[in-house]
Amino acid sequence: MSSNHFETNAIRGQMKRTEQREHSAPLFLTSSFVFPGPEQMELAFQGGTDDNIYSRYSNPNTDELIQKVCAMEGAEDGFALASGMSAVFASMAAFLKAGDHVLASRAVFGSTHQILTELLPRWGITHSYVDPLDVGSWAAHLQPSTKMLVLETPSNPGLQLIDLEAAGDFAKAHGLIFNVDNCFATPYLQQPGRYGAGLIVHSATKWMDGQGRVLGGIVAGKADLIEELRFFCRHTGPAMSPFNAWVLSKSLETLSVRMDRHCASALEIAKWLEARPEVERVHYPHLESHPQYALAKMQMKQGGGIVAFDLKGGLEAGRQFLSRIQMCSLSSNLGDTRTIVTHPATTTHSKLSEADRASVGIGPGMIRISVGLEHVEDIRQDLAQALEA
Ligand SMILES: *Cc1c(COP(=O)(O)O)cnc(C)c1O
Repeated sequence: MSSNHFETNAIRGQMKRTEQREHSAPLFLTSSFVFPGPEQMELAFQGGTDDNIYSRYSNPNTDELIQKVCAMEGAEDGFALASGMSAVFASMAAFLKAGDHVLASRAVFGSTHQILTELLPRWGITHSYVDPLDVGSWAAHLQPSTKMLVLETPSNPGLQLIDLEAAGDFAKAHGLIFNVDNCFATPYLQQPGRYGAGLIVHSATKWMDGQGRVLGGIVAGKADLIEELRFFCRHTGPAMSPFNAWVLSKSLETLSVRMDRHCASALEIAKWLEARPEVERVHYPHLESHPQYALAKMQMKQGGGIVAFDLKGGLEAGRQFLSRIQMCSLSSNLGDTRTIVTHPATTTHSKLSEADRASVGIGPGMIRISVGLEHVEDIRQDLAQALEA
């Protein structure tokens, strides 16, 4: 069934019941499917039916997940991939050829940066980075061969926002494929398709699973683009496993209630940190002090589960803060039930120069918190003792 409500689609968007009359969707761990006869098999291979053929192409569990994500994003079609990075890569490689050029926000996920700077150039595909905060400056970087605009908002870990409406207008005016990594916001908080995004990419590993169990990636978007992407994926093989799709589809049933709590706790932590003497500045989209607060209120339903803050005392203060953390986890992941604390300057972004870090809003004493679902008082206590010690 299809409803106007996000929560209902997340729960009732379920595959057709089998003759077993199961309540919860079953798991189809099968690599291939059989046909009642040669005519049906021939027709399926000619694309004349939507029968499942082989799980590299489609599977009931991945289909259920894709349909849920499409309902959430307001997208026409999608494909499920083994990880967020395989989704990011396919969303570019399926559409670009030698000689093409990509415009990308300077503040993209680390491995996306590696794809743009190290891998795509091997196949003759170039890029230019643009300032995420200044859409007006992007046109100067266009080339006749520019084909795609790649963005991420809010950015990791600086939580800078890109104006999706302005970006969408820009992409449309210049005939670019508009490709948005919506992992940080999730479709519950922000739907890039409303602003014209033709490709919406997710690492389902993060908030979508939300419990730190499985890797997964999704590309959703406009039907003609997904058709091209599906051809690329069918023949290169990055398909998501049915098991992971089964886990993720169940995870999505609780996405809205989890995100409500993640966001409420994150806002509370952000406000509390703002009043702390050890803290220079707090970055959170729905804090009134965020330089893009008005934009955040407009394009994000809530502020998200990530809070970043700058410690007074820079790099060494960041190191010491992390060494005193007791309950929260030191892990590179995010979007888990467990609160995770990281120090980007010495870990995820340690390979960048200090100037390059500064250009994407990462100070030497910046701490990133992926606010979990523990009681907010316990999270605050752990942060407080680490600040005070
Ligand atoms: C984690 C992440 C990815 C990569 O996803 P994996 O599932 O780890 O491959 C891509 N984009 C963003 C914004 C992410 O946070």
